[in-house]
Amino acid sequence: MKDAFEFADELGPLKTIHIHEPSVGLRAILVIDNVAKGPSIGGVRMAPDVNTRECSRLARAMTLKNAAAGLPHGGGKAVLYGDPKMPKADKERLIRALANALRYTEDYIFAPDMGTDEVCMAWVKDEIGRVVALPREIGGIPLDEIGATGWGLSHATEVALEYCDFELAGARIVVQGFGAVGKNAARFLTNRGAVLVAASDSRGTIHSANGLDVARLIEIKESGGALVDYSGADKLDRDAVVGIDCDIWIPAARPDVIRGDNVDRLKAKLVVEGANIPITPGAEKVLAEKGVLCIPDFIANAGGVICAAMEFHGAGEGAAMQSIEEKLRRNTRLVLEDAARRNILPRDAATELALDRVRKAMSFRRYSLFSSAPGFV
Ligand code: NAD
Repeated sequence: MKDAFEFADELGPLKTIHIHEPSVGLRAILVIDNVAKGPSIGGVRMAPDVNTRECSRLARAMTLKNAAAGLPHGGGKAVLYGDPKMPKADKERLIRALANALRYTEDYIFAPDMGTDEVCMAWVKDEIGRVVALPREIGGIPLDEIGATGWGLSHATEVALEYCDFELAGARIVVQGFGAVGKNAARFLTNRGAVLVAASDSRGTIHSANGLDVARLIEIKESGGALVDYSGADKLDRDAVVGIDCDIWIPAARPDVIRGDNVDRLKAKLVVEGANIPITPGAEKVLAEKGVLCIPDFIANAGGVICAAMEFHGAGEGAAMQSIEEKLRRNTRLVLEDAARRNILPRDAATELALDRVRKAMSFRRYSLFSSAPGFV
């Protein structure tokens, strides 16, 4: 008994489902955390070492993220045991089996996460239909290709600048991680007058105080190269990106890149968190004490999930981008106003905003976490 309810609190999880199908070697866990706001959306993570604890934490993070984003969706997450680089036919068999095992679990909408992609989602669509982030050819909005999360980050940045003493025009930005999120954030921000002075990928950092040519960098990355292949900039170690003097620092790579042992190297006035949990809670406090404004990850990087939800509700690319802009601007402003008024961290204000929205939705239900209306059972 204790084991089964180890992660239970007043918000959830509503259900934890362990799935086992020996004929195909399927072992998976689905945690549906809270669906008071609507059916849950959350990715399928495929890795050899996943577990119920990780799945529960990720499902809760999705409840808060979807609520903070202002979406009519709750939070859930699935983990699938296996090596994501296994032969394609084996992976397809597992994903199709997982979809079938969850055919009637209507309060969970499949989405991609680490180890799964739009092709996996197309297999889910083919089996049961209830999925987001599909390939364009079957009605999906390719959110990484259009830069949905980078677009959201650029709007969060613009609103955050109302709380800073400098403007976007001429602001020096540094981007850690030049993938789907980082390169598009750089593209949208430099289009509006910012100057990219440094960027990094897993192979190294490049730096030029006069500014880097973002279009050329994107070309290099898209043709399979590394940032250090760019000529006309200083080449530094991968982690040197942390210490480069700038106005806006954007982490868009890995978790926990700013910690107690390197937070003092960061020289920026504003940090806009593109990656998930890029800064440890202790380091975020240190930055606040130094007057560095941090826009928390689940506010700043919500563009991707907003895009996925818009796709689920039948919207096209234009409407999705417009919705990201509106929601990111509104939520960033709400969080920063509240944080300034009460002199609390933006992260604490954001968590309260999300919790208020979830609790309000729960108050409309006969049962707090779920509804018996069609689509929610
Ligand atoms: P991606 O794989 O497209 O790009 C990651 C980039 O980071 C690559 O350029 C890689 O070389 C670089 N990188 C890896 N390790 C690094 C390191 N130690 N130092 C510097 N660079 C490093 O991934 P992405 O989709 O851009 O996601 C980046 C982060 O943003 C992840 O934390 C992801 O969870 C988060 N996120 C992504 C989205 C989205 O819409 N794609 C939405 C929300 C959050």
